[in-house]
Amino acid sequence: MTTFAAPLRLRLDGGALVNNWRWLQRRSGTAACGAAIKADGYGTGAVQVMRRLLDAGCRDFFVSSWTEAASLEHLLQDGVNLSVFHGVRVEDMGRALSSKARPVLCTADQIARWKSASGGLCDVMVDTGMNRLGLDRRSDVAAQMSGLSVSTLLSHLASGDEDTDLSTQQLERFSDLRAHVPAGRYSLANSAGICLGQPYAFDLTRPGLALYGGIPRPEASEGIAQVVFPQAQVLQRRFVPSGDSIGYNATHLARTDTEIAVLNLGYADGYLRCFSGRGVVSAGETHLPVVGRVSMDLIAVDVSAMPSVKEGDWLDIDYDLPAASALSGLSQYELLTSLGPRFDRVWF
Ligand SMILES: *Cc1c(COP(=O)(O)O)cnc(C)c1O
Repeated sequence: MTTFAAPLRLRLDGGALVNNWRWLQRRSGTAACGAAIKADGYGTGAVQVMRRLLDAGCRDFFVSSWTEAASLEHLLQDGVNLSVFHGVRVEDMGRALSSKARPVLCTADQIARWKSASGGLCDVMVDTGMNRLGLDRRSDVAAQMSGLSVSTLLSHLASGDEDTDLSTQQLERFSDLRAHVPAGRYSLANSAGICLGQPYAFDLTRPGLALYGGIPRPEASEGIAQVVFPQAQVLQRRFVPSGDSIGYNATHLARTDTEIAVLNLGYADGYLRCFSGRGVVSAGETHLPVVGRVSMDLIAVDVSAMPSVKEGDWLDIDYDLPAASALSGLSQYELLTSLGPRFDRVWF
């Protein structure tokens, strides 16, 4: 008996995921190391990621919304925390109050809402210079928080992946907050922040990108390994005579007789058109160029160098995140989170 398999799959390296988390944990020093698993674990599958990191000892998880939290609640156990970054809108209150996850309160209105509902344990986000979510650091944060039961006070780095004064300013501002605003724990660093060094770690770090193999700063390349390996199946091998064009709008002209393989992968799967004529696919050790435009569901690869590649074969899509980012102009975050639902996700 055979089970149905899609013609495209993400091979996901569970060992690499756990090793990446352990490396980030070591770099976090005495701080606990959590995990950002929003956007379905950056496209890899949040349930699988949370299971594996729970087994490895991770106790703090972060998602963006209550819908994301609901799909993970069955994995919560004593001593495990799940925080919802975007806090509580009016529409969220029902779910939030009956959830074992807790909100990261970001605005004065959210705080008022949580207090008047006697919502219980929460986290609070303060903005220290990114001007995204969070209370204004220049306001009386401690006064606003009084009456709340705050587990963790958070802030978020805007430019941790660059060498800029903004990170040091945010570090100083957050240290100042810690001195004046009582909370159970303090947390500032994402993946890039962990690479910036121990002073950024405080009590709890919140890596996302690097868990999944992203390299936010050069320091991470020594310890972070690729997790996500896309593969696609060959639907057809064909001969393209010299002078013919390949694909939509005939952007690629075969200058010599060429053999191509047409693969079941396209921009609807997150392999976006910026890989047209730039992407690389591998058959074993041989690197093969993507030729012509990426279609919605298909790409063409020049396999002239590989007479053995045939219909039904699986080829590896080169998806080393820093390299694919340089090639495509997409961020490593976009490369991960755009990978679509048509991939079979296969952990190994
Ligand atoms: C997404 C997110 C993180 C994780 O950031 P990475 O750069 O992926 O490590 C941490 N904190 C907050 C508030 C976030 O939104």
